[in-house]
Amino acid sequence: MEADILIVDDDPGTIQVLARILTGLGKLRFATDGKTALRMARKQRPDLMLLDAEMPGMNGYLVCEIMKGDPELVDVAVMFITSYAGLKFEVAGLEMGAADFISKPVSEPLLVARVKTQLRVKRLTDQLRDVAHIDALTEISNRRRFDELLNLEWLRGLREGHPVALLLADVDHFKLFNDAYGHPAGDVCLRMVAQALSSACRRPADLVARIGGEEFAVLMPNTPLDGAEQVARRALAAVQALGIPHDASSAAALVTVSIGLAYYDNSSAAWVEPSLESSFSGATLMHNTAQDLLKAADQAMYAAKNAGRAQAWRLDVADVDTPALARSIESPRNRVVETQRQRA
Ligand code: GH3
Ligand code: MG
Ligand code: MG
Ligand code: MG
Repeated sequence: MEADILIVDDDPGTIQVLARILTGLGKLRFATDGKTALRMARKQRPDLMLLDAEMPGMNGYLVCEIMKGDPELVDVAVMFITSYAGLKFEVAGLEMGAADFISKPVSEPLLVARVKTQLRVKRLTDQLRDVAHIDALTEISNRRRFDELLNLEWLRGLREGHPVALLLADVDHFKLFNDAYGHPAGDVCLRMVAQALSSACRRPADLVARIGGEEFAVLMPNTPLDGAEQVARRALAAVQALGIPHDASSAAALVTVSIGLAYYDNSSAAWVEPSLESSFSGATLMHNTAQDLLKAADQAMYAAKNAGRAQAWRLDVADVDTPALARSIESPRNRVVETQRQRA
């Protein structure tokens, strides 16, 4: 992907010079004041910002400080370009989180070399962050990524009054599978299950993660209960459709998952009437946490296990710790497995 470089200087002449020097190193964008630079950066996050330190209005140091305090912009590499000569200014800039410092008038080869270096570092940092979020075996998101987004999406849901759903899928009798077919076959199976679960999700905002050995999660922001139940049905069906034999399972002759679905939506007991909402925000009245959502999904999952596995159950997050309130999600596949089991 082409690097995105935002050049910020109050002097259009300087911008022209910099643009000519940096032609070919990436997509170049320009701003002549700090406020516009921040607005452009928020709209489309650049990889690198060349930032004039001295500008009327909002100066470069302030722009940098704001960016380093903004989670969305903190990773942008900032390179100060300034006519201040002196250690004091350089140190101040670097301590603020700037990546580099170049003094005017700029030397053409030095600028090119340093910009290339910053872009290389940025690319590597991005790759590292991606790797840190990916599960090595299945190549879907890992537990760390899931934990980050669970909190974020939960809070966003409360703030915006949107429903949130969380699905947990645990492979049935997977210890027996490993015992019967071997650990390498178990690993292949986990990869296939990860793909099947991913295929059951249709929205780009859905997050599919491996959160434990043979345990997966699907986090579904802004998804009401009926939509989440459809995903649960599709997930059950997709795993069974893999057709992986599992003769040792009591649930079916194939590899299956048990699913627990926890949700928070308008029909939830904790939902606030619109009339009340004007004086209280949803966030103050809804006192369940993201951890409650996870716990409720786990309790629903155990309800599914207890009911015979290879099926999906749901529990409202407001009913967390009352697993007796968990309910079965009707699925045609449940019946297929049921008849298969009776025949066996
Ligand atoms: P249940 O239906 O109640 O979930 O039974 P289970 O056997 O699936 O559950 P249990 O938690 O007893 O065992 C999970 C097993 O999953 C243990 C281990 O053999 C297997 N497992 C966990 N991680 C991996 C992995 O990365 N690769 C392989 N091949 N197996 C794994
Ligand atoms: Mg200036
Ligand atoms: Mg398990
Ligand atoms: Mg299991």
